[in-house]
Amino acid sequence: MAMKVGFVGLGIMGRPMALNLQKAGHRLWVHGRRSSTMQPLVDAGASACASPAEVAKNADVVFVMVSDTPDVEQVILAEKGVVHGARPGTIVVDMSTISPAATRRMAGELHSKKVEMLDAPVSGGEVGAVNGTLSIMVGGKKDVFDKVLPLFQAMGKNIVHVGENGAGQVAKACNQIVVAVTIEAVSEALTFARKNGVDAAKVRAALMGGFAGSKILEVHGQRMLDNDFKPGFKVKLHQKDLRIVMEDAGKLGLALPGAALVAQHLNALMGAGDGELDSSAIVKAVERLSALAR
Ligand code: NAP
Repeated sequence: MAMKVGFVGLGIMGRPMALNLQKAGHRLWVHGRRSSTMQPLVDAGASACASPAEVAKNADVVFVMVSDTPDVEQVILAEKGVVHGARPGTIVVDMSTISPAATRRMAGELHSKKVEMLDAPVSGGEVGAVNGTLSIMVGGKKDVFDKVLPLFQAMGKNIVHVGENGAGQVAKACNQIVVAVTIEAVSEALTFARKNGVDAAKVRAALMGGFAGSKILEVHGQRMLDNDFKPGFKVKLHQKDLRIVMEDAGKLGLALPGAALVAQHLNALMGAGDGELDSSAIVKAVERLSALAR
């Protein structure tokens, strides 16, 4: 059944996700803070809106896919934010990767206005967004999840209702710990091969079939070998995700030494002006420690 759908945030991920909703036959209202980001959607039949509030006035379900916690707070709660156009029963679905604690706060605030919220961060990268094969991890009420499920199915394949509000963001933080520490491991292994004078491409090929094989070795390992750090998933976003992890771990009194180490490498990349590169550039931080040139 076609639904009235809103989408705010039309970057690397948001644009193809919104296009997939449109292709699935839903009616779309979109907002991007730079109007040029809306054009591909408008060309495909969506209505451009001047603000998130205008999106919410028209749509029954409003998706948000922006960068960081303050951005989501701005899009949902600030002047001209979603909350000012929403009606009782409107469902707000935040698919950005942000803080679980801030998510719980926002869900509470929206709930007091009878507006429902789901947190539904994703994994699978730009390729998953384009192909509609994202993994989607969802927090919020099960009956609200059930209503939105057909829309999630237009964007993803592995869709899991994890628990209450914030649980989706906790799952995503877990995902980012595994991805970051694995990129670090692949970086160290390929650097070890190079320093030994052994062909790192052959090492990657040898490792792919055994226990060290992984999607990260396959995709990010290849990017490291090709010296191709076009994003993908930017260093600055991975730094943001590990900041979320470390802040939460700090509040819980939880030591995560592996994640903390990779957070330092991401900080170093930011300091070197590499924030816009794909986060497989962690290999550069590893190499620089031992003065290895690319
Ligand atoms: P991106 O390409 O930088 O896009 C972010 C979009 O949000 C941009 O269009 C930006 O507008 C908009 N935006 C940011 N702050 C805003 C604000 N305050 N008000 C209005 N619009 C705002 O990033 P992305 O790669 O699509 O990532 C989006 C989210 O998905 C992030 O939370 C990221 O961690 C997560 N994620 C990304 C990937 C990936 O592989 N890229 C994978 C999984 C999850 P402008 O165009 O004007 O800058």
